Amino acid sequence: MKAKVECQECGADIGVPEDAVVGEIVTCPDCGGDFEISAKGNDKVELKPAETVGEDWGQ
Ligand SMILES: [Zn+2]
Repeated sequence: MKAKVECQECGADIGVPEDAVVGEIVTCPDCGGDFEISAKGNDKVELKPAETVGEDWGQ
C-alpha cells in the first residue's frame, strides 16, 4: 500500500512506499522533481523540495 502525495511542482500524484522514512528522497514520475519526505503520519506524507543543488559529496 502506498501513500500518495501531490507533487509541488506539477501536481501529479507521487507514490510513497509505506515503509519510506523521513528524509528519504522521492522522485515525481511526471516532472522528475526530487522531494524529501519532511513529515510522515499514518496515511499522510509531507514533502519539501530536496536541497541537492550545491552539495558536493566528493564523488
Ligand atoms: Zn511533478
